[in-house]
Amino acid sequence: MPVSGNGVVASSVAALTAGLIVPVLRLLLNKAEFPQYEPSGPLAPQYDFIVVGGGTAGCVVASRLSEVGGWRVLLVEAGPKPPPETYVPGISLAASALSHYSLDWDYTYVPQKNALKNYVDQTGVLQLGRVLGGTAAINGMIYSRGNRRDYDHWQALGNPGWDYLSVLPYFVKSEDYRGHSLGETEAYHGRGGPLAVTPGVAGPLTRAFLQGGLEMGYPVLDSNGPQQIGFTATSYTIRDGVRCSTAECYLKPASSRPNLHVLDSATVLQILFDDTKRAVGVKIEDNGKVVSVASLREVIVSAGVVASPKLLMLSGVGPRQHLQQNKIRVVADVPGVGQNLQDHIGVYGLSWTINKGSTPSLLERITPSSFKQYLTNRQGPLSTPPESVSAWVKISQEGDPQWTDAQIFLFPVTWALDKGLFTPRAFGVDRKVSLHCRQRPHPLLHSHTGAIL
Ligand SMILES: Cc1cc2nc3c(=O)[nH]c(=O)nc-3n(C[C@H](O)[C@H](O)[C@H](O)COP(=O)(O)OP(=O)(O)OC[C@H]3O[C@@H](n4cnc5c(N)ncnc54)[C@H](O)[C@@H]3O)c2cc1C
Repeated sequence: MPVSGNGVVASSVAALTAGLIVPVLRLLLNKAEFPQYEPSGPLAPQYDFIVVGGGTAGCVVASRLSEVGGWRVLLVEAGPKPPPETYVPGISLAASALSHYSLDWDYTYVPQKNALKNYVDQTGVLQLGRVLGGTAAINGMIYSRGNRRDYDHWQALGNPGWDYLSVLPYFVKSEDYRGHSLGETEAYHGRGGPLAVTPGVAGPLTRAFLQGGLEMGYPVLDSNGPQQIGFTATSYTIRDGVRCSTAECYLKPASSRPNLHVLDSATVLQILFDDTKRAVGVKIEDNGKVVSVASLREVIVSAGVVASPKLLMLSGVGPRQHLQQNKIRVVADVPGVGQNLQDHIGVYGLSWTINKGSTPSLLERITPSSFKQYLTNRQGPLSTPPESVSAWVKISQEGDPQWTDAQIFLFPVTWALDKGLFTPRAFGVDRKVSLHCRQRPHPLLHSHTGAIL
């Protein structure tokens, strides 16, 4: 395939190929017979609670609210029910790259003057899931809690109940840790909660990386325990070889409740307010029709980091001047809406060639026999992501020495793994540049390690 400078040819070929691969993959994986959602019946004119966005947060909120039998709960999700490729951990990366063409909002950053120089048009892709389960249906599944200082800081900003000691019991309650005893940090984990957490493969790469940490004077630890600074093996939100997004682990088991209505492939256009500025319902676009549904108690906005402020602003809640410029009637002048987006920067592309056989390459993992094994008993290479390992460190000399500011992440994949077909486009990287990560002569036959900082 010719390398296209502007990426147009490459991205057309990629879109075409994804269009061919995805239906075949779905047909094949349908045989895995993943449990389905219970159908919800016709939409009612009113509910007690309306949850906007069936992503990571929304699925938990809707599921927990519907535990109260007397409350009727509506969850509205813009995307479809998750297709089978999103369930399979061993192809999660590929699914994420492929999902760019169907399960993603396709947001990009504004072109940058001084950054993203290896990206097409100096514009980055902001991957956000548009599917039941949200971004957790397409993400890396790594189970990683924040640093305790993050939560304490939230409380200090004026949010009582969000400090570490207050949120820890909820981490414990939600978790179903499926590994062996964790020793000293066992009390920081739960067993039997809805969110399955399974230790990843800890092979030679992990062992070497952890040993490297020890040689540098770092502890090898459970980074979800009391201390975070150190080197750690990865745990994933996976149950018995299946991605455990909150849609899978919270919402699906609740979907048979008669008081919970799950409406997918429908978009909330606006939150409706009464004269006292109380949210009393939403306007939904469902199958080409616009309908209004009333909420007797609350509207919960869990549409994600971009869509939540966008929806609030479209509904008249945001900075007055900005709303007026866009001819939106102001319900409440709230200057903070849409401000202070924080994301973590990832530096990719640091690659090393490692000894053949140290860890299985992608081709060695995705084979007819691994598919057969997965379809038969959800085991084998497709039941888990490739080996990965992290170092949580503090790079800056300033501030609290226990407040991590970087994660060094090692995993046996480079962006050139698919010869630049989907991956660069999915992340917005210039294809020519991404192919520099490629190792000769057979990029797919040798194992590589990339690192993110
Ligand atoms: C590539 C990638 C890898 C990641 N890997 C990890 C990881 O390994 N571990 C980890 O902990 N975190 C990871 N994350 C981050 C994590 O997935 C997100 O922080 C988390 O999913 C955000 O949850 P949320 O509920 O806020 O939003 P989302 O999960 O994005 O949910 C928002 C939902 O709202 C829906 N929606 C939006 N607008 C509307 C509307 N108007 N009407 C109806 N529905 C609407 C969307 O379709 C979406 O389903 C990753 C993120 C990305 C992008």
